[in-house]
Amino acid sequence: MLYGTAASEGIGIGRVMLVEEHSLEYTPKTVTDIEAESQRFKNAVALFCDNTKAQAENLRTAAGDKEAEILEGHIQMIKDPYLSGEIEKLINEGQCAESALEHMCDMFIAMFSSTDDELTRQRATDVKDIKIGVLSILLGKNEVKISTAPKGTVIVAKELTPSMTAGINKDNIVGIITETGGTTSHSAILARALEIPAVLSVNGITGKLAAGEQVIVDGSKGEIIVSPDDSELQTYTQKRRSFLEERRELENYRNKPTVSASGENYELFCNIGKPDDALKTVSADGEGVGLFRTEFLFMERTSVPTEDEQFEAYKKAALILKNKPLIIRTLDIGGDKDLPYLGLEKEENPFMGFRAIRYCLKKRDLFKTQLRAILRASAFGKISIMFPLVTTVDELREGKQLVEEVKSELMKNNTAFNKDIKVGVMIETPSAAVIADILAKEADFFSIGTNDLTGYTMACDRGNSNVSYLYSPLQPGVLRLIKNIIESGRKNNIPVGMCGEAAANEMMIPLLISFGLTEFSVSAPSVLKVRKAISKWSKEETDKIAEKVMQFSTQAEIENYLKTVI
Ligand code: PEP
Ligand code: MG
Repeated sequence: MLYGTAASEGIGIGRVMLVEEHSLEYTPKTVTDIEAESQRFKNAVALFCDNTKAQAENLRTAAGDKEAEILEGHIQMIKDPYLSGEIEKLINEGQCAESALEHMCDMFIAMFSSTDDELTRQRATDVKDIKIGVLSILLGKNEVKISTAPKGTVIVAKELTPSMTAGINKDNIVGIITETGGTTSHSAILARALEIPAVLSVNGITGKLAAGEQVIVDGSKGEIIVSPDDSELQTYTQKRRSFLEERRELENYRNKPTVSASGENYELFCNIGKPDDALKTVSADGEGVGLFRTEFLFMERTSVPTEDEQFEAYKKAALILKNKPLIIRTLDIGGDKDLPYLGLEKEENPFMGFRAIRYCLKKRDLFKTQLRAILRASAFGKISIMFPLVTTVDELREGKQLVEEVKSELMKNNTAFNKDIKVGVMIETPSAAVIADILAKEADFFSIGTNDLTGYTMACDRGNSNVSYLYSPLQPGVLRLIKNIIESGRKNNIPVGMCGEAAANEMMIPLLISFGLTEFSVSAPSVLKVRKAISKWSKEETDKIAEKVMQFSTQAEIENYLKTVI
């Protein structure tokens, strides 16, 4: 048995697909058989074009024509007579195909990157994609494509990046195992949203499993059984059945209001990453969307989505939700979420770097385009705007100022939008939590992002298994901040929600009720479970529990006590 972090509940039984990262390093050689080398290059280009064509077709179905055209543009570029001619020339001079390709691509990348024109700069990203694609083929390091995994596949990887996970087909993937990542990593969030059992942070797992090997993934306990025998297979098939039965029992909470035992009503929203996820919100019986992570719209493509593309996406979500609340978070990029085409500088400490609202306030055109798209969509539903990673009130003021600027521009053009759109703040840094009283005077609402708040408060990387013992919202330090945020919101009469993973944590729920949280935003599969958990408690009971909890000194004491009462 192997152990890791239980990141997405359920039992998966299937066969391993290893998703390996590969390095594109090589030693340049001088070639003597020029003809053979030139043919090797031509073969690689032909295969690259075939692969790209297939990807473009997939993308056409999944995303649309425009996205497909970007990939088709790559085929034209690599076939461009000047580029391929120059590469051939270098090969004729004795350079190996890898270094000839790299030399020419790097030249174009440098040339395109140095211009002021945004469109031309984006072409540098296209050339980078081409370089990586052809180089991978030349080095025999073709990527394993998750989207083409067969039925009954368990994905095993060092790390699943958000763009990799975005290609998962829920019908074929029965389990996920990774070496890194905790319960709030994006792989975990996605696994839960797709209801795929996942065990993360399993030390050295990629070296321990072979492709095709049968494994059982127990995402509820964080356990993996390799090559199970018949009795293990029987036991886990039964466990899988019970798990699914329990899930069915939760159906009693469908189409009911979210109300505590003492009669207080709560809002129970969902977190989404794509407009279509709004459908999942509706089918999961979510009462709205408390967090639309818009960065997913910017991923899996080679350029920034246009204002119209964004507008259509936000409008689509709003229309699906039929006037249920939709909180759209502005671009939260940086940290673990890179967008290669933005050419973000490599930073020593990206989680504390140039990201989220900091980036958007400096890249005003990009930010205003997003704000304009959100505001235009606000004519079609109950949309609010939320800024991520705020640390100072200046950021909120500056962000709101830009919202006002965009509003006046839209007004001048007679474009419809909701003039009273609410602008809220995600409270996910210790600074924001401590100055919640200041922020509450200028924000329309708060949503607590416990995923980051826990990490920044405990100075602990959410994906680092060596320090994951510190990473808990039940740490007294984190709980005190959460209490302060909610109380500050209440004193200033603004609603306070929570969109971090802690909102679905059954041990946290009585505490959040007692502190006065009014909105819970969770992954779609957690909706009914959270509704059931809220229905268990009366306000009076939760107050007693919270009073006791706030007197304990350690997370272990808090957790042990809560285990006895829930
Ligand atoms: C959070 O930090 O709690 C949050 C919800 O944002 P994300 O997980 O997208 O960083
Ligand atoms: Mg966050």
